[in-house]
Amino acid sequence: MATLIKEPRKPTIPITELERSAFCRTEDKSLKSKTLEEEFSAGVRWQKLPIEYLKIKPDVLSQRIHERKKQLGTRLLMLGHHYQRDEVIQFADLRGDSFKLSQYAAEQREAEYIVFCGVHFMAETADILTAPEQKVILPNLTAGCSMADMAGIDDVLDCWDDLQDVLGNDGGIIPVTYMNSTASIKALCGRNNGIVCTSSNAQATFEWALTQGQRILFLPDQHLGRNTGVILGIGLDEMLVWNPFKPLGGHTREALKKAKLILWQGHCSVHTRFKTQQIEKARAEFSDVKVVVHPECTKEVVDMADMNGSTEYIIKVITESAPGSVWAVGTEISLVNRLAQENPDKTVFCLDSMVCPCSTMYRIHPAYLLWVLDGLAEGVVVNRISVDEQTREEAKIALERMLSVV
Ligand code: SF4
Repeated sequence: MATLIKEPRKPTIPITELERSAFCRTEDKSLKSKTLEEEFSAGVRWQKLPIEYLKIKPDVLSQRIHERKKQLGTRLLMLGHHYQRDEVIQFADLRGDSFKLSQYAAEQREAEYIVFCGVHFMAETADILTAPEQKVILPNLTAGCSMADMAGIDDVLDCWDDLQDVLGNDGGIIPVTYMNSTASIKALCGRNNGIVCTSSNAQATFEWALTQGQRILFLPDQHLGRNTGVILGIGLDEMLVWNPFKPLGGHTREALKKAKLILWQGHCSVHTRFKTQQIEKARAEFSDVKVVVHPECTKEVVDMADMNGSTEYIIKVITESAPGSVWAVGTEISLVNRLAQENPDKTVFCLDSMVCPCSTMYRIHPAYLLWVLDGLAEGVVVNRISVDEQTREEAKIALERMLSVV
């Protein structure tokens, strides 16, 4: 019988890395929005929209968005992720990290339209958790997440088949996916006794998974997976990184059998910018500085920081800290800038002196927001995110497991 030889896939460069140079800067830390036409001139490839939106000035966009929001009233709910730019987050009825926003989406039954100012996987999650008649809209369809894109469903299905072949009769393996993944991967977890997690509840979901099977496949972020494994006492020698571009992820069958935690080779291009040298520099400049970072940072950075936790955790510790305290923060710059503005009695700064927003979150420009709201006001739904029925059902199982475990 002929052996089927799989074509080796080529690694891809994340959009966040390709577009980083377009918006990273050392000056103008405010990241103030320009017209969409000016932002396009940086060479980015975002979703096309009617030409009349390109030249509208940010203050005019703001005014028109306010009017549209007022006109749509309670038929419209806007959800905003903390990493959104100020000119967009100001319109969010509810703000949160991906966990909080998924809870909000699950609770909302009133609004006819949910405009999700975040990235694609979040809008998919909202569609899964809301009622079928509610319409979830992502203002710019090219607002993805490069970490989520590192785990394509075909690669993950190949990996899962291989792991079943090697481990299926040897204690099994439970798939745990980070919220930052496509609906199809959440569905794979749902139909294979797995679960979804966020950075707020990774520890609890790992603990749950280890009551269900001997091992965990965690994807797509190797760093959150490793940092969580360490908290649970899993040794680094019991963790393997699965390289989707190599046969069996780059490991032998024996090595896979010995592993307790298999980590997908994915990362966040924003959080892996933080380095231990930046922490050393912050400590040299401010003797009383506290360093708080997100667990998508590398283990070395997390180990050296004073504390680490989800976006909501970072907001909470800084907001509740004593006046006069000094914070060096390892997370997305739009949020760090906002924390600095909202806590004028404290010193809050980003560990990275280069201002580099998450370039996919940044794709939600207010012009896109106005475009979709204009459509809704005229009864036209632009950019609806709709997950197919089977994927929705299976992904919902994994999401509801998460909501019941934490
Ligand atoms: S900050 Fe990282 S994980 Fe979050 S949306 Fe951007 S690329 Fe994805």
